[in-house]
Amino acid sequence: MRKLLVATHNKGKVTEFADMLQDMAIEWLSLDDVGVTQDVVETGHTFRENGVLKAQAYAAETGLLTLADDSGLEVDALDGAPGVYTARYGGEGLTAVQRYQKLLDDIKHVPDAQRTARFCCVIVLAAPDGTLLGEAEGVCEGRIAHAPAGNNGFGYDPVFYLPEFGQTMAQLDAAQKHQISHRGRAMQAIAPRLRALLRESTG
Ligand code: IMP
Repeated sequence: MRKLLVATHNKGKVTEFADMLQDMAIEWLSLDDVGVTQDVVETGHTFRENGVLKAQAYAAETGLLTLADDSGLEVDALDGAPGVYTARYGGEGLTAVQRYQKLLDDIKHVPDAQRTARFCCVIVLAAPDGTLLGEAEGVCEGRIAHAPAGNNGFGYDPVFYLPEFGQTMAQLDAAQKHQISHRGRAMQAIAPRLRALLRESTG
């Protein structure tokens, strides 16, 4: 079984990836599983730059094939912000609820038609020698709601409204979210590359 490091401390994220690709003979490891405690500083200006930064740094540090994802929310009424700063939107030390409340507040006068937004995710695969072995992108289009709804998911899910479902992302169950989410789509796109790499490594 080939070891694959997922560049995150979030066990939930590793499980999400493992679930999506459960047919693959991969031992999925988080940064905590391999004893990495020092985080790479995300200095990139794009999701891709941050994904490359994380994948290459952790692969070099651990000697493992590494998958890194970087994601965030682009809001058209804010000229694409918060983008790569989504996790830090509103400043240090806020809860997820405080961050999305700030977003609702910042665009409270924006009418429905102009509340378009998208979640974006870039996934990068790197080898320990720094070689980039694959990358993929996933996008999920929606709108920022006027008020939160739903208890599933995390982050901005309660305020991300999906017109085709008539619900927010936080009202979908996990399987539905994987099907249409930015991360799910990026994962589906990187899957063939991962499969090919596994085939190469097993001869
Ligand atoms: P990261 O790429 O995991 O660091 O995610 C950046 C930030 O984007 C997170 O802190 C979340 O606030 C937000 N985010 C990313 N993916 C999702 C999602 O699927 N739902 C809600 N928020 C998300």
